Amino acid sequence: MERSVAGLHGQELVLSNLSPSVAQRRFALGVVLVLLVVFVIVAGPLSGLPLRRVDAFIPAYGTAIFVIDSITAALLFAQFSVVRSYALLALANGYFLTALIAIPWTLTFPGVLAPEGGLGGGLQSTVWLYVLSHLGFALFAIVYTLLKDADPMEWVSPRSIRAWVLTTVGLVTALVCCATVFVTAGHALLPRIMLDTAEVSYLWYYVIGPMAALFVVALVLLWLRHRSVLDLWLMLVLFAYIVEIALTAFPIPYRFSIGWYAGRIYGVLSGSFVLLILMKEVTMLYGELLRAVLAQRREREVRLLTGDAVAATVAHEIKQPLSAMIMNASTGLRWLDRATPNIDEAKAALQGIVSSGHRADAVIENIRTLFKRDARTRTSLDVNNLIREALDLVRDDLQKYRVAVQTDYNPSLPPIEGNQVQLQQVLVNLITNAIDSMATEDGDRILSLRSKVYDPVNLLVSVEDVGKGVEPSAVDLIFKPQFTTKVHGMGMGLSICRSIIEAHGGRLWVTANLPQGAIFQFTLPVHREH
Ligand code: ADP
Repeated sequence: MERSVAGLHGQELVLSNLSPSVAQRRFALGVVLVLLVVFVIVAGPLSGLPLRRVDAFIPAYGTAIFVIDSITAALLFAQFSVVRSYALLALANGYFLTALIAIPWTLTFPGVLAPEGGLGGGLQSTVWLYVLSHLGFALFAIVYTLLKDADPMEWVSPRSIRAWVLTTVGLVTALVCCATVFVTAGHALLPRIMLDTAEVSYLWYYVIGPMAALFVVALVLLWLRHRSVLDLWLMLVLFAYIVEIALTAFPIPYRFSIGWYAGRIYGVLSGSFVLLILMKEVTMLYGELLRAVLAQRREREVRLLTGDAVAATVAHEIKQPLSAMIMNASTGLRWLDRATPNIDEAKAALQGIVSSGHRADAVIENIRTLFKRDARTRTSLDVNNLIREALDLVRDDLQKYRVAVQTDYNPSLPPIEGNQVQLQQVLVNLITNAIDSMATEDGDRILSLRSKVYDPVNLLVSVEDVGKGVEPSAVDLIFKPQFTTKVHGMGMGLSICRSIIEAHGGRLWVTANLPQGAIFQFTLPVHREH
């Protein structure tokens, strides 16, 4: 938890900085294999097989690309505004470019708005727009790769961040507008790539070849420099792009052939990878941050509560020995003030002062250990070990009051993350209370300690005694500071136990042990791998 809170200040929790886990790498590899298998099946002789022309396919495909890529771009722009890395700005613009080009691409596709392409330009315009979108994306991906390890921008105001976003978005929009005008109104000036829906000119291979090569360069570069989750998924996107180009270009790029349809689907897939992963990771990170912030707030509250409680307890507990000292001192003085001072009585009074002093000292020491925050750091802990250590600490008391201990540990409990000193303190407090409650009762004295899995994310520890039990009316009161039914009790133990358990993300409560006694139980979240 400390780690996540630290992440709030550093930028470890930003996607472009998080390193991928083994599971994420494996998943990415799995996706690559699936893409390859499908490619092998679809490519080959099947690829050129013409399928029925589905008129709704193109607008649906264009819209999907537009929506997916523009949302991805928006998320990446948002990441850029947090991390202020030029690399993210470039990548966001890459997605923005492909999103934007999807509009004229769809509108110029023959048969969507008009048989010869809506904006004029016919067959050629869609091909050139396709090339521009792919080349642009590959170039932006390369810029991303080259810049991603550079230092972020110096601190700049949110306004300059906005200016960067607006300027680059403006430039990309202008580029797409110019390109659209050029490939539609000026299409006659462009070399002809597509002769008809089933035939391409030799130029096609001179264009598609370098384009594919550029993606390979981008992929290799990123492979050499990859570090973060985002890099991993971007590699996947580049890979899907390469497969898509291969399907579109070879062996013969018939429109509405199996290979062509498959290429389009790969196109949508490559857009979706980063988006889905961005959404998933952003949501998970949000959850994690929320947990961290809540834990931090709870910890602060606990600290305030314990601060108040310390003050109250010190005042309450020290008052008594202090009054005793004052009383003893005046008595001693009176014995000495006599015509014949009574040394023995004076000595006894002084003795009283010494023992009151010791008591005050012990009280303070007690409070200090209760509130000790020496090791705020949390480590991975085995709950069963914690219970064994706590039992060791109270061994003398267990013997003194002849308490039999029964244990029932689940040996395969996952570890928890916590503060060893504090959790031991909780167990020692609960066990001591159980011993106290049984010490006043006749009959067998049995202390039972259990550990088990509570639910998929929590463990449960219970401390059971057969003592006098807790009155139903006192169930809530006993957790309040300074509530005690013991002559020398401080009434702080359970309130501190609850604070500690809650600060660890768990819960502590009491139930009746039938036929007799009390069961104190607490949960602790299992240690999650980050
Ligand atoms: P203290 O032990 O100093 O009284 P605690 O906060 O630990 O302070 O406990 C508060 C009160 O809760 C105790 O005085 C006692 O009345 C009740 N209590 C705690 N544990 C038990 C138990 N195992 N059985 C019965 N009563 C208990």
